[in-house]
This record gives sequence, structure tokens and C-alpha cells, in this order.
Amino acid sequence: VSHVVLGMPGLRRGAPGTTPAPSGRPDGRPDDAGLVDRFGRHATDLRVSLTDRCNLRCSYCMPEQGLDWMPDERLLTDDEIVRLVRVAVDRLGVREVRFTGGEPLLRKGLERIVEQTTALRTADGVPPQTALTTNALGLARRAAALAAAGLARVNVSLDTIDRERFARITHRDRLPDVLAGLAAADAAGLTPVKINAVLLRGVNDDEAPALLRWAVDAGYELRFIEQMPLDAQGGWERSTMVTAQEILASLRTAFELTPDPAARGGSPAETWLVDGGGPDGRRRVGVIASVTRPFCGDCDRTRLTADGQLRDCLFARGETDLRALLRSGASDDELADAWRGAMWAKEAGHGIDDPSFLQPVRPMSAIGG
Ligand code: SAM
Ligand code: SF4
Repeated sequence: VSHVVLGMPGLRRGAPGTTPAPSGRPDGRPDDAGLVDRFGRHATDLRVSLTDRCNLRCSYCMPEQGLDWMPDERLLTDDEIVRLVRVAVDRLGVREVRFTGGEPLLRKGLERIVEQTTALRTADGVPPQTALTTNALGLARRAAALAAAGLARVNVSLDTIDRERFARITHRDRLPDVLAGLAAADAAGLTPVKINAVLLRGVNDDEAPALLRWAVDAGYELRFIEQMPLDAQGGWERSTMVTAQEILASLRTAFELTPDPAARGGSPAETWLVDGGGPDGRRRVGVIASVTRPFCGDCDRTRLTADGQLRDCLFARGETDLRALLRSGASDDELADAWRGAMWAKEAGHGIDDPSFLQPVRPMSAIGG
């Protein structure tokens, strides 16, 4: 590893082996590389939010009464989304596309968007890898069609397997629908099915071992995510969030965890083998410690919101308005150039754990998690 793996990256010109052509631009940005930044990171993983709406109300994400949803005319159309994804894959080196939200299954055109995305080809001549982050409501009915459209994998958010707790966290009594969606995703081959869980103190922070037992038995790959300051109501507190260290300590009361020899790459999850990997050698658990062990130095993300704003980070305080460019008749070249310029300006890190940290104006549900 040639640079800082965790925390902040050092200022650097060019990633190893991919030294971009020098340019005469005053900001030093190479003319023609993909999505590179001043710290030598390459963004190859695009997160596309398809809507800010949701049919759950997870307490760490949005208030019980919901939010003021974006008006339809501000949302990108299916065709506009596909065009921007095409620019990213054709011209900017994006290799992975993840659809998220809000709840992406609320988007009727999802199957078509996935199909048109997987029809694209990266510079290596292969389709981009597509994935979906979802609460799984309604997935039971759509998993097969999504797989047929070319979707590769799903990440399902599930914080508890106790029905009452589920209803308390999400304000909806829908655990059976989520479990049905998970089973359907598995049956449709959207594997490995991953589960994202957030632990909340005094609500489900005692459930980590039970959740892991259930997930390994079902063949799902569980990852715990530290709660981040991204809820719409500003309810996050550093002092009460459940840390990665606590989660691991709790898991170790029931399992033997050993570091996973598989390379982490740009993945935010640090993974451990569960009881030696189990009989099939594939049992693992991940922890995404965005707050206590930030991975900004290895970030490979670029983000598009449902209303066509480009963000270089979940925690960015600025955005680039690709929708306005698109609707004023910009060419693919112009869109690509604006995208490169936005990523070049990406900051070294988010600084959540720093007292001067300011929460972004948009909540997670309107950015795309
Ligand atoms: N509705 C879909 C879902 O829940 O999977 C996709 C959008 S959701 C915003 C994406 C992910 O963000 C989910 O795994 C959710 O648990 C996570 N998330 C939401 N708010 C969070 C917060 N404040 N801290 C950490 N993770 C959060
Ligand atoms: Fe909806 Fe996902 Fe937010 Fe839960 S985390 S309220 S499912 S957008």
C-alpha cells in the first residue's frame, strides 16, 4: 500500500500507475483523466439516488412524519439519469453503479434504468457492476425482474430481527416484508446478499451477536455501520453513538473474530472471519466505522442526487448542479468536464470526529446513502 489507508490522504499528484497527462490548466487538473482529485484518489464508484422519498421512517434517518419531498420537476427523469450514468461510464472511468435513495424501489422505472446501465461498457469492455441499497419493501415481487435486468447485488438495511423493535426503529410494522424480500433476492441470485445494520444505544445495541448468528445461518453477509450525523432532525450525538470498538467487543462475546485476509480495496467495511470463516470458509462480518476510523484516504465514490446534484462526499457542503447544465443543453463533453472539475475539488476528509465538523444541509435520505 503506497499511501495512507485510513484517515486523511496526503496531497499527491497522480495515482500509482495512472499518472495523468500534465495540463496547462491553472488548477493543475489533468485534462483527460477520469475522476481524479488533488490527493490522487480516483472515483470509480458512482452512487445514484433515485428518490428522496421513503416508506419507512428509520429514526436515525428521518422524522416520523417524513420530510418535504422534492417536487417532481426537480427530479431527474429516467432518461436524464441514464444519460448521466452513461457519461460517467463512457468518459469518466466509473466501473460500479449503486442505486440508492430514499428508497430506490419506489422508483417505477428502476428495472429499465438498471437494464440501460448494464447495457453500457466500461473502458475494459465489460458492463459496470450494478447494485441496489434498499429497505427491501416490495423486493419480494421485483427481485427476479431486477436480476433479469442485470442487477448484480443488493444491500438490504435491517437493524433488528425482532418485530417489535423493527416497528419501533422504522415506525412501520414491516419486518415480514423485509425478510421476504431478502429471501427473494437470494433466490434470484442477487448475491452475496449483504445486510446493513445500524445499532442505536438502548434500542438494539444488545442485538449484535443475535443478528450475526441469524445472518450467518441464513447465508447473508452482515455489516454494521456506525451511526453518522446525517439524520434530518439533527439527533446524532457523538457521546451516545455505538462505536465500532463496542460492536466488535459485543460480537466477541459470542464469536471468534479473525481479520479477513481478503483485501479491503476501496471498501469502507473492515471485515472479520466469523469462527474461522465457518465450515464453508465464507462467513464474515463487516464494520463500517465512518466516524471512529474514517476511510477517506481510500475513498473511490462520486455521488449524484435524485435532483441532479453532484456531490464529491456524503458530507460535502457544496454541490455541482448537473441538472441545470443538462437542461440547458450541455453536451456530454461539457457534462464530463463539469464532473471532473467537481471531483478535483474534493476535500481530504470529512472530519466528523472533529469539533469543528458541520453537518451537511441535506439529510442522508436526500443525498443517497
Ligand atoms: N432506503 C434504503 C436503505 O435503507 O437501504 C437506501 C437509502 S438509506 C439512506 C442507505 C443506508 O444508509 C442504509 O443502510 C441506512 O441504514 C443508512 N443510514 C441512514 N441514516 C444513517 C445514519 N444516520 N448513520 C448511518 N447510516 C445511516
Ligand atoms: Fe428509508 Fe433507508 Fe432512511 Fe430507513 S434508512 S428511512 S429505509 S431511506
